[in-house]
Amino acid sequence: MTTSEKIKKSIKDTLLDPDGPVLDDDFLALCGERNRRFVERLRAEEDAERAAEAARQHRKEHPRIGVLAIQGDYAAHAAALTEAGADPVEVRNPGELDTLDGLILPGGESTTMLKFLERPNPAGSSFFDRLRDFAATKPVFGTCAGCILLARTVTHPPQKSLCLLDATVERNAYGRQIDSSILTAPSSLPGDPLEMVFIRAPRIAQTGPDVEVLARRDESPVLVRQGNLMAATFHPELSSDRRVHRLFVDTVRSQYGSKE
Ligand code: GLN
Repeated sequence: MTTSEKIKKSIKDTLLDPDGPVLDDDFLALCGERNRRFVERLRAEEDAERAAEAARQHRKEHPRIGVLAIQGDYAAHAAALTEAGADPVEVRNPGELDTLDGLILPGGESTTMLKFLERPNPAGSSFFDRLRDFAATKPVFGTCAGCILLARTVTHPPQKSLCLLDATVERNAYGRQIDSSILTAPSSLPGDPLEMVFIRAPRIAQTGPDVEVLARRDESPVLVRQGNLMAATFHPELSSDRRVHRLFVDTVRSQYGSKE
């Protein structure tokens, strides 16, 4: 028996003993005060647990999704995420990944992003390596330049990539900036055909067996999914339809808390 258990037992014995000492008002007042504080502490603990559970529920419904904000159209992605029910965060350094439930790599210029991501980090591993670790447990969605960064192989010209999405991606496959286009095509998302904004878009030239194709442009996949990864060669954030972002937010929700 611990000392505190011994003390508790001896007080209880004293209180229960009809022949025990007379307990004066001061003593009883002290017991009451002590109980009051104990009950208060229990209530505070219960309140804190309830608040933490409410915060967990809120986070599950509105997951915290980062948008790599080095360059490109990250602000439009953040707005689209808000509309799709998530809580977006602009991410500029690797430490910020730790607080996220998912991440979007936006469109822009993949070479510029790559240079930034590969900079040596005196405080630890590079942003590039941290991104690879992040994607091992959390959902990542790459659009356009982001799709190039995710690919296993990049061509035209060849370029280093995160090698996460089992696909070969050809950069600038549809011509120059001036050849950018908006198409509407069927997709496997429920509802109407999907509007797709292509800007100096890459082409997914080849996919591995685990890659599910959700939409195509001509014969080439333009929206794909592989486990926790999603990639689009177009810019869903530039259309008003939020189905693509909602699909990603749902993927993040379904993973929330599963691999902390
Ligand atoms: N052409 C760009 C690249 O190669 C991608 C264009 C985009 O993200 N809209 O990185």
